[in-house]
Amino acid sequence: MRGLWVLLALCAAVFAKETFEGHQVLRITVINEAQIKLLKELSGNEHLELDFWMDPVDVSLPVDVRVPFHSLQAVRAFLGYHEIHYEIMIQDLQDLLDAEQREMLKSKAFEARSSDDYNYASYHTLNEINGFMDTLVQENPGFVSKLVIGQSYEGRPLNVLKFSTGANRPGLWIDTGIHSREWVTQASGTWFAKKIVTDYGRDAELTDILNKYDIFLEIVTNPDGFQFTHTSNRMWRKTRKPNPGSSCVGVDPNRNWDAGFGGSGSSGSPCTETYRGPSAHSEPEVKAIVDFVKSHGQIKAFVSIHSYSQMLLYPYGYTRTPCKDQAELHELARKAIADLSSLYNTQYRYGSIINTIYQASGGTIDWTYDQGIKYSFTFELRDTGRYGFILPANQIIPTAQETWLALMAIMKHTKNNPY
Ligand SMILES: [Zn+2]
Repeated sequence: MRGLWVLLALCAAVFAKETFEGHQVLRITVINEAQIKLLKELSGNEHLELDFWMDPVDVSLPVDVRVPFHSLQAVRAFLGYHEIHYEIMIQDLQDLLDAEQREMLKSKAFEARSSDDYNYASYHTLNEINGFMDTLVQENPGFVSKLVIGQSYEGRPLNVLKFSTGANRPGLWIDTGIHSREWVTQASGTWFAKKIVTDYGRDAELTDILNKYDIFLEIVTNPDGFQFTHTSNRMWRKTRKPNPGSSCVGVDPNRNWDAGFGGSGSSGSPCTETYRGPSAHSEPEVKAIVDFVKSHGQIKAFVSIHSYSQMLLYPYGYTRTPCKDQAELHELARKAIADLSSLYNTQYRYGSIINTIYQASGGTIDWTYDQGIKYSFTFELRDTGRYGFILPANQIIPTAQETWLALMAIMKHTKNNPY
């Protein structure tokens, strides 16, 4: 009998959802290099279990960090002692997560039978998004199909929607959700899919694009991580592959690509959020895209979508050497964010990854660019930190709508400048 209780207690510990009661997200404003150095030291203290949402890298950028309740006093004392300014962005993270769950439950009361009924203004589980994709394929035979480009570590299919109106076309690629906790991205990807089928044949520009190119859209690019954000830990970013010799799980799939792999701006430690993995393309979720891009051979634009911080970025992240198309990509980014902000006046920064955020090696679009995909971009969607990864569901549709305008600018430019 006692054994049974022990077993039950163990199960509860394994399956319980992690809570974030009392966790605060602090926004730290650094004013000099010395303070950045101090924050890096702080981040190296594993006992504190800090989760940097925005890393300390440059005095021009704020630093956002989730501080567990047990570390709050120590972190506040540290910042106070060194006279580093901060404010509390999120008072109690669990309050926001509870609100998010209530919102999701409300939308679950109604099961979507068609893609018209699907609630685009709500967050959804992996099953619901998979169901949505199958519905969209059924509703649009001969136009939308679902490709399985590989399997995740835990054996889930890596689904890609293909929008195609003819054979042997060059392709445009969009992925969302490679970092699983960035929920507004998968939600936006779902909205984009519906937008494409709605506008084809109605919107002249999109119709023209689809008469010359196929669009590939991977909505849940890291399904194991995404499932884990729903069942166990809402703050999960990485893949779910165990790391031999470490109790820490997962690899940062945006540091795992063979582009400056292993360089600065990635970590060799499995317990960090930017762990690059044992070797380039070690993660099946990354390798599947690598294989797809190579075997397709005609991908002409590649857009990888993250959140948050409102930025549109082009290569490089791993080197200061400007990419050879910098002038053209910079001008296109300017145009794309001008279009984006025309809708709700959302302000974006833009530029190369290394000049706009920080050095990051092994990133997706550095690899795609080096493969010859000139129009390679990364978005960081809303917001700038008020809610961070817990963007309220009522911002999903506005975020998707404005982002779509920027995507159209990129796709249109690609079409008008064939290479
Ligand atoms: Zn991300």
